[in-house]
Amino acid sequence: MKYRFCGNSGLQLPMISLGLWHNFGYVDNYATARDIIFHAFDKGITHFDIANNYGPPPGSAEANFGRMLSEGLKNHRDEIIVTSKAGHLMWDGPYGDGGSRKYIMASINQSLKRTGLEYFDIFYSHRYCSETPLEETVQALIDIVKQGKALYVGLSKYPVDKAAEACEMMRQQNVRCLIYQDRYSMLSRKPEGAHFAMCREQGLGFIAFSPLAQGLLTNRYINGIPEGSRAARDGGFLHREDITPELVEKIKLLDAMAARRGQSLAQMAIAWLLAKPGMTSVIVGASSVGQLDNNIAAVDNIEFTIEELAEIDAILNQ
Ligand code: NDP
Repeated sequence: MKYRFCGNSGLQLPMISLGLWHNFGYVDNYATARDIIFHAFDKGITHFDIANNYGPPPGSAEANFGRMLSEGLKNHRDEIIVTSKAGHLMWDGPYGDGGSRKYIMASINQSLKRTGLEYFDIFYSHRYCSETPLEETVQALIDIVKQGKALYVGLSKYPVDKAAEACEMMRQQNVRCLIYQDRYSMLSRKPEGAHFAMCREQGLGFIAFSPLAQGLLTNRYINGIPEGSRAARDGGFLHREDITPELVEKIKLLDAMAARRGQSLAQMAIAWLLAKPGMTSVIVGASSVGQLDNNIAAVDNIEFTIEELAEIDAILNQ
């Protein structure tokens, strides 16, 4: 694994981080989940990205990770970065969703309890909540750091102006906003431009989630929708109808191009992100050790020629 400094901070993150959104809940096979996490750590993935609501059921990814910590991983506590988040619906009633101090404080306490950790390395506001004054959410994050419940804080899915405002508020109270997290892949390029510029100006690291577009930017769906794949499962955010013939055509062209580069499509999709200036890390998901290994090897070749970058754009825009 290779590591990069996160923005202007002294914290290094692995170029490939592992996320527990899918495949790590009580509905999933615990032995497989544990194999993936332990294997990741053995391969130098030191950053595990979690949130209060990951599962299903919500909270179970944190609880499973806590179990893995108690089964050996905790011996390496000082060698890993564990993140959690609050912002999306977690429990019923007015205090289990959004950006209020009440919700964020209750949620981090629950997350610490579920994982058995004394502190998170990074704690995020999971989304911008337009119904909560920004100062209230930001003050909760500042106090979380001052209370020692997290070493650093970050923001996820914030409008660019609100993110910049939040960073300034933190700075006034001597707390650093470490990192900005958003969806970013060849198929989802919104953060390019304003969000990248904001991260540069504010000294934040940028970390991309769903770098493989939930599996679309791999060979997973080239020959149909396999049983057990994310698109085949109910209740998720990737649906059968998302896999259109037009998209599969583009994926096939990208796959052929990746083969010419001596990479899998997953590796090329990750490498393409890591080649962007300012990119700290990408958070991949994986349902098997094999997928994870495939993704890790992306760091071996993140160089692209101008012609290759143009070819990728041409395929995506056709
Ligand atoms: P990816 O885009 O990496 O998708 C992961 C899925 O792609 C896997 O579950 C698997 O699907 C498939 N896959 C992965 N590697 C391969 C491979 N080499 N070959 C074939 N298929 C592969 O990321 P996720 O969407 O899972 O998101 C990653 C993390 O980002 C989350 O766990 C979470 O930590 C974070 N995140 C943050 C959000 C936020 O709001 N801040 C929102 C969403 C995610 P299959 O299960 O079909 O095998």
